Amino acid sequence: MTPHKIGIIGLGKIAQDQHLPVIKANPDFELLAVSSTRGLTHEDAQYTFQDYRELLKLKDVEAVAICTPPQVRHQIAREALLAGKSVLLEKPPAATLSELEDLRQLGEKVGKTVFTTWHAQYNKGVEEAKKALAGWSIKRLLVTWKEDVRHWHPGQQWIWQAGGFGVFDPGINALSIVTRIMPEPVFIKSSILEFPSNRDAPIAANLEFQTGHTDSDLQAVFDWRQTGPQSWDIEIETEAGFTLKLSHGGSCLEIDGRLVVKEDPAEYQGIYRRFDALLTIGTSEVDVAPFRLVADAFMVGKRVQVDAFED
Ligand code: NAP
Repeated sequence: MTPHKIGIIGLGKIAQDQHLPVIKANPDFELLAVSSTRGLTHEDAQYTFQDYRELLKLKDVEAVAICTPPQVRHQIAREALLAGKSVLLEKPPAATLSELEDLRQLGEKVGKTVFTTWHAQYNKGVEEAKKALAGWSIKRLLVTWKEDVRHWHPGQQWIWQAGGFGVFDPGINALSIVTRIMPEPVFIKSSILEFPSNRDAPIAANLEFQTGHTDSDLQAVFDWRQTGPQSWDIEIETEAGFTLKLSHGGSCLEIDGRLVVKEDPAEYQGIYRRFDALLTIGTSEVDVAPFRLVADAFMVGKRVQVDAFED
């Protein structure tokens, strides 16, 4: 089959670390064009533009991967769909739930693929955890997502602005695992959001979830002020008595203390395999579940002001 000709919009960290090398290594895709507001170019791309609208005029581009901050994703995706391109949306797929619904409906109307990527879901440990938990009730869930924002997000000012998600930028990865593996729907019961006095987005959050089982203890702790060891862990205890621990963002899985999966993450390889399948059959995949939990956490969240944070 001829490869899908693709363009990348926004050549920031994730485009350079993952999208560019993964597309290069996947024979089902050919990078035709890139657009970069800073005027960056890439040797694999035949065309380079500073304005993404120029990229969208290329007839041969079948799809675009939108790797910008979330605040501008909806506008770019909307124009791409209207230009007849399918869209791969980096996470978070938009700035709001209603923007995402607009894109879903527009994709349907113009007959193009809309793909919400939740990279953490593409870990083998996550899939194995989902299988192990199927049919069981959950007694305890503890998500611990604690990282050093200065190390992982240097200079990314958009992340602190309204619509930048703050600590939910990594936290939504944890939530995308939770919504994937939990055997029954999970919803937000309460949340406490810590906002630095000089920022419009939270630096830390404590969430309490609930399922139909009201006596379960389901919590998440997100914190961006972590120095030293970093944690991207999810621990679960089932009512049947067995325990499960996903660590390193989902790439390691232990069940009852026994290591079941340990692999080098290949999340973006999985994302592009899935995108190839969706483009080939001409369908969309719009998973709103992780996004809805974030929106609900903001909706019911108690806001606490904490010390100003400089990065
Ligand atoms: P980043 O390094 O700040 O890159 C974003 C890039 O988007 C910028 O470098 C800029 O690239 C472009 N851009 C910025 N403002 C724009 C605008 N107004 N219009 C069009 N393009 C604009 O951020 P990132 O870490 O790559 O994150 C981008 C997205 O990927 C976020 O939603 C993030 O959650 C997600 N993500 C990041 C990671 C990670 O490890 N960093 C992992 C998974 C997912 P140009 O100057 O080239 O236009």
